[in-house]
Amino acid sequence: MISEKMAKMASGGSVIRAIFEEGKRLSAIYGKENVFDFSIGNPSFPPPGSVKDAIIDIITNEDPMYVHGYPANSGYPEVRRAIADSLNRRFGTAYTEGNIMMTVGAAGGLSCTMVTLLNPGDEVICITPYFFEYNNYVTTPGGKVVTVPASAENGFMPDVDAIAAAVTPKTKAVILNSPNNPTGVIYPADLLRKYSDMLLEKGREYGTVIYTISDEPYRELAYDGAEVPWMPGCVANCIVCYSWSKSLSLPGERIGYVVVPSDIADGQLIFDAEVVANRMLGFVNAPSLMELVVARCVDEPTNIAGYDANRKLLYDGLTALGFEGAYPAGAFYLWIKTTIEESAFVEKAKSYNLLLVPGSNFGTPGYVRLAYCVSPDMIERSMTAFARLAADCGLGK
Ligand code: PLP
Repeated sequence: MISEKMAKMASGGSVIRAIFEEGKRLSAIYGKENVFDFSIGNPSFPPPGSVKDAIIDIITNEDPMYVHGYPANSGYPEVRRAIADSLNRRFGTAYTEGNIMMTVGAAGGLSCTMVTLLNPGDEVICITPYFFEYNNYVTTPGGKVVTVPASAENGFMPDVDAIAAAVTPKTKAVILNSPNNPTGVIYPADLLRKYSDMLLEKGREYGTVIYTISDEPYRELAYDGAEVPWMPGCVANCIVCYSWSKSLSLPGERIGYVVVPSDIADGQLIFDAEVVANRMLGFVNAPSLMELVVARCVDEPTNIAGYDANRKLLYDGLTALGFEGAYPAGAFYLWIKTTIEESAFVEKAKSYNLLLVPGSNFGTPGYVRLAYCVSPDMIERSMTAFARLAADCGLGK
């Protein structure tokens, strides 16, 4: 018999992946053009041309023993330096390659960070609604997820008092994700500073250090010129997990990095342990070719305009039908109220071939998440189905 924990997990699986697979099944029956799959956060634009150019140039002109050999477990020093330099230009920091470890996406960075920080029984606070994979990253080294609801009245911003009330002597870390999946909210600098002061105060009270893990795969996805504050500039003891999965449309290439600033508590020890975790978890190192590619594309802009057009199209269409939700400031998700009981809403939607992810899959029932990293054409065609759903839910009368 395999591990009891894994047997349980294998029978559960990922809800989002299951909906995505259901989309493929429905497409085979009804035709791809009649299925409206808003389930998964797979970017809808190809990577920019500079990524392809870099790949071709590197595999044509660089030494294959360098390109395909093992880099250091932390990544090629020159790649890490290029990333540190880019962050320094943008955020006025003074990082070196000694602060950057290349990772297998943000997921790899989060997993290494949890293994680095957590003793069994340590608590990690997650703000609901949240990306449910955090449960796996936290529980694998024996940690425990403690949830704190974001304030719905306050547009799903973290509630600093509620987080303070959830901190215990066992709290090791808080995971923040801004721009947020699933709400699209961006946390402002003044809120982050207040949050940081609170954590420092709690740490003094309990004689502990409470780290903040800033999960930032959507950092570049901010609309209308909204500023995404550099989290370690506002929050003490902050470790950043970044990836190019969304910003450069490279989710399958599994490439990202962790920033461990030098001035956080036990900074050098944490960095060294992150590198060990990269090996221990079997990643060994981030993919070598992709490390070299992203170093050349480090200042490449993200296709904000494309996602922004989708954001407007979907939001305007749904609100005109009577659906309620906040206009997202970042990422590529729309978070709307279900108006009727959540599972009935999701099932009704499915009967019109609309595939939406239930809010309970983010720890917040009564909502659905729509990923608008899809074709604008699909958004337009889906509106007839949404109109039927709205009518079934008594909206727009
Ligand atoms: N964190 C959040 C909030 C995400 O939405 C995702 C992916 O969708 C990840 C982390 C994992 O990203 P990556 O592909 O870089 O591992």
